[in-house]
Amino acid sequence: MDFDRLHIWHPYNSLPSLHTQLEVESANHCLIKLRDGRELIDAMSSWWSAIHGYNHPVINAAAKSQIDQLSHIMFGGFTHQPAIELAELLISISPKGLDKIFFADSGSISVEVALKVSLQYWKSRNQPEKSKFLALKHAYHGDSFGAMSVCDPDEGMHSLFKDNIMQNVFAPSPGLAKNMSNCLIELEALFIKHQHQLAAFILEPLVQGAGGMLFYPAEYLIKARELCNRYQVLLIADEIATGFGRTGKLFACEWANISPDIMCVGKGLTGGYMTLAAMLCTEHISQTISQAQPGLLMHGPTFMGNPLACKIAYTSTRLLLDSPWQQRVRHIEQTLKHHFTTLKNLEGIKDVRVLGAIGVIELEQDGIGQDIQQIALKKGVWLRPFGRIIYTMPAYSIKPDQLETLAKVIVEAVTLGLQSSANPDETLVNQFV
Ligand SMILES: *Cc1c(COP(=O)(O)O)cnc(C)c1O
Repeated sequence: MDFDRLHIWHPYNSLPSLHTQLEVESANHCLIKLRDGRELIDAMSSWWSAIHGYNHPVINAAAKSQIDQLSHIMFGGFTHQPAIELAELLISISPKGLDKIFFADSGSISVEVALKVSLQYWKSRNQPEKSKFLALKHAYHGDSFGAMSVCDPDEGMHSLFKDNIMQNVFAPSPGLAKNMSNCLIELEALFIKHQHQLAAFILEPLVQGAGGMLFYPAEYLIKARELCNRYQVLLIADEIATGFGRTGKLFACEWANISPDIMCVGKGLTGGYMTLAAMLCTEHISQTISQAQPGLLMHGPTFMGNPLACKIAYTSTRLLLDSPWQQRVRHIEQTLKHHFTTLKNLEGIKDVRVLGAIGVIELEQDGIGQDIQQIALKKGVWLRPFGRIIYTMPAYSIKPDQLETLAKVIVEAVTLGLQSSANPDETLVNQFV
């Protein structure tokens, strides 16, 4: 553990680390077992990915048999059944028109490929000046350089790397709009002003995730699709967080009944087993790129189309489609709403919102998240708040009694955390802990 603290980077952390990490020994369904024997109910699904929970016997069996057959082979010059079967399945469930696929090795890389495809599309049409991206404030699309350039422009990464990233155009977040028609008017003004420069409009449909857990109505997506058509701008839907049922539809774009030109998926794609993502696009885009010079999509990661990851993703997605996932997501939505609304009028709570299997409690101020996390931990629930945002997105198959416990513990932890911050002298958290 000392070695870990001194030598190993963890997400958004310093070295040596200010906090010690919890050491995990194993995880089963929705329970995470720590080395010291504690068991935690998982409220985070390992950042949206473990949609069936951990250690699923069907996925385990598929992974083991694939390892015995073929774990990896270069995708340059070779193909294999796991990639073909997964591609067929993903294309069959994706919004209409998305029928060409690129397998990437992480969500961020699928976003890089989506941006690159957009740029190459306009170069192929002899309009290289269309080279900027329109993105949303409070967006999060990943940590690599292209992805950073379309993340929220006022947040740390942007200010730190301002001189190193593409300069793009940002529209107000629809998740914070007081008046949707004004928000749409502002959006159209940006299209009018920048149409000759814009390659694509990239957004997270319906839910802005790591940039603030903000929800917005399908109406915005419908308008975004219209504006992209009218001003000749490609539409990229980043469904890396929202895909695979999280919002109550298989893909969040379905709420607006729209098809983007390009879509990114990741996170839940492998049920949290390993890293894999994909970019899907229309035939029009693939044809335009392939018929111009150099006629090739200029990307090809070493682990592209990894057979083990593809087999696991296929198995996980089939498992999802064959399960009553809509019913389960609806049950999670109702349960979280039922428990979280009790917080609504509490001092220190800015907002409470639930959509599908996503529950969010937004506090008025920073600095309490850690206390809340610690209290939840003592009560046996794994939470990972960021800033003022306490949130949960459990596995769809979470047992009803685990879900009840999870929701109750979150409400208790938030209530206690707020009380102790209001009365710092009493150090309620410390007494409790
Ligand atoms: C997590 C996330 C990404 C980045 O995916 P990684 O696999 O972490 O690279 C991109 N976009 C959205 C919306 C995400 O939630």
